[in-house]
Amino acid sequence: AARLVRGPALRIAGAELNDRAYSRLRIEQELRRALVEDELEVHFQPQLALGGGRVTGAEALVRWRHPVRGLIAPGEFVPVAEETGLVEPLGRFVLAEASRQAAAWAAMGIPIRVAVNVSPLQFRNPRFSEAVLQTIREAGVDPSRIELEITESAAMADPSHAARELAPLRSAGVRIAIDDFGTGYSNFAALTQLPFDVLKIDRSFVRDALVTPGARVVVEAVLGLARNLDVETVAEGVETEEQRAFVTAGGCTFGQGYLFGRPMPAEAFEAWYANRLGTELRAVAAEAQAQ
Ligand code: C2E
Ligand code: MG
Ligand code: MG
Ligand code: MG
Repeated sequence: AARLVRGPALRIAGAELNDRAYSRLRIEQELRRALVEDELEVHFQPQLALGGGRVTGAEALVRWRHPVRGLIAPGEFVPVAEETGLVEPLGRFVLAEASRQAAAWAAMGIPIRVAVNVSPLQFRNPRFSEAVLQTIREAGVDPSRIELEITESAAMADPSHAARELAPLRSAGVRIAIDDFGTGYSNFAALTQLPFDVLKIDRSFVRDALVTPGARVVVEAVLGLARNLDVETVAEGVETEEQRAFVTAGGCTFGQGYLFGRPMPAEAFEAWYANRLGTELRAVAAEAQAQ
């Protein structure tokens, strides 16, 4: 009887494994094509100064415009890219695209920084900073317009490598942000040795800050830590007015989230930016008139 029960269960487990392996392989093959056929695109999500509301930057987020499946989110293919080494060319593409866009925006009178995600595998490259600076130079962008987002776990995996690679980038003017902060095993001692400019508070903590005491404590602790280290902070995933008020009161520098704007293609971002500037100017004019 035990055999009869085990048989089908094993078969199901096997089939599931095959499905997963197949789709991973398929994503890998299609992603190789996507890189050659230009199916990847970069969207931009606004970042605002929480005091005053000025738009200061945008995070570059990759999307896959799949000919059959439509727009695919990075959660579905970045992990596969990471496992197969495709994240190197993918990362180069996103950095080049983001740098080119930042330069174009600067020329258009949109003086914002563009933040680019770096995969842990990319970061492990012993010539990481060299490769980044070369891409930035080729795009003709002022390095101070570029911010690199390194995840906390990637930065902490090898602190001396991190320090070595980040120092030349910072001397060139590139800003360094620690992404998804609070989700790893934060080693505060190692963190103080790391040259960086911004801590990004992970979306999960911002989401839960007004609901669970634990998340609230994490947000407050990160903001306090950033103050003491004299670095800036970005609250990720701000969706509600209450969340905005909470992180602003805690002294957070920047906000990013659906409350302000979703990730959008460059042209949509420009329209959003112009609209936002118009609203700001009208508010200033109205205030002046009232006086
Ligand atoms: P991340 O770097 O932490 O990026 C923030 C994610 O939160 C983005 O998801 C963004 O769309 C989402 N988000 C922002 N505000 C809100 C909000 O108010 N509500 C909700 N529900 N979500 C919000 P996205 O674009 O799906 O990217 C997911 C992750 O994929 C990124 O997390 C990053 O780890 C990775 N990724 C994206 N683009 C790249 C890339 O070019 N290279 C690499 N290596 N990884 C990337
Ligand atoms: Mg990020
Ligand atoms: Mg993040
Ligand atoms: Mg995150």
